[in-house]
Amino acid sequence: MTDPFHTNGLADRHTPLPLPRRHTRQVRIGSVPIGGSAPIVVQSMTKTDTHDVAATVAQVRDACAAGCDIMRVAVPDAEAAESLRGIVQESPCPIVADIHFDYRLALTAIDAGAHKVRINPGNIGAEDRVRAIVDRAGEAGIPIRVGVNAGSLERDLLAQYGHATSAALAESAARHVQRLEGWGFRDIVVSIKASDVWRTVEACRRFAELSDCPQHVGVTEAGLPLTGATKSAAALGILFAHGIGDTLRVSLTGPPVTEVQVACTLLSSLGLRQRGVTLISCPTCGRTQVPVCELAERVAEYVRTIDTPITVAVMGCVVNGPGEAKEADVGICGGKDSGGVFRHGEVVRRVPADRLFEALVEEIESLVRERNAER
Ligand code: SF4
Repeated sequence: MTDPFHTNGLADRHTPLPLPRRHTRQVRIGSVPIGGSAPIVVQSMTKTDTHDVAATVAQVRDACAAGCDIMRVAVPDAEAAESLRGIVQESPCPIVADIHFDYRLALTAIDAGAHKVRINPGNIGAEDRVRAIVDRAGEAGIPIRVGVNAGSLERDLLAQYGHATSAALAESAARHVQRLEGWGFRDIVVSIKASDVWRTVEACRRFAELSDCPQHVGVTEAGLPLTGATKSAAALGILFAHGIGDTLRVSLTGPPVTEVQVACTLLSSLGLRQRGVTLISCPTCGRTQVPVCELAERVAEYVRTIDTPITVAVMGCVVNGPGEAKEADVGICGGKDSGGVFRHGEVVRRVPADRLFEALVEEIESLVRERNAER
């Protein structure tokens, strides 16, 4: 059989990456499509008490403003399931209800207007309970995310594989999908997550060979922002390189906005989706003639609310800066007493070093006007 991932030795090195996006069936979460030819969708999860509708909606709004497409909300009890009604009504993006164990919470969440429910059929228990959720989701016309993770694998698979291997995780997900499809339900998104990079990658790759369901990808319990972002970038970078992943969450021990910022940065770094400004800045070295870190921080803050997809550079010296940042639409570079403003590697203006930030702002504003006029 042909290896769809071209992992056989030498030939591997000559396969251009990324591989084309894997074709998956498309499902719709409210107004947001996932899979098929839809762009890769960014998700996050609220960390507020779901009973507190106002605080939860505020967190959803912040995440959406940062670029989140879909938010998930934990539904730990009946009161939280009821609170979903207010959250869904006020939310600027589709809401996914996260359900564990109690199938009745899923039914209430669906009735409350959730745009998708996320369940692990393995921990919902008896088949008739899973079936009740599937039937209610079918009636409401909403998808189900089948979420499988290393901590809640079926006993027979654990016995067969010894522990939660990538093969066991993929088989568990495929088994759940098959059951739902056997009941005529096909609006399914699958997530398979482990807390380590290789197992997550391998399980998602294995599942991709078994099903055309769209995949929600991410590393679970990834950690504090630095560790979590690094781990997530490692795993998701590999998966996206292989064309796998229709929607992602970067799970961090930190606010949802940080999760979304990391996810959006990851997608734009891979050229998969650009939203707003991509900022590049040089690492600085002995040639640096302006305070690059400080300038880059100021520029990052300034461009945070700009939606136009442009690339901006902050570089430390005029000798190498413009050339190294040729791909940037606009940038600044330090000089001995004066600095330069450049566009696509060519210095277009010289300004006093202490006016570099203001000069860059003027240039960005003019570029954004030009781009918006072209739209
Ligand atoms: Fe050094 Fe100039 Fe490159 Fe920055 S742009 S790292 S200052 S050579």
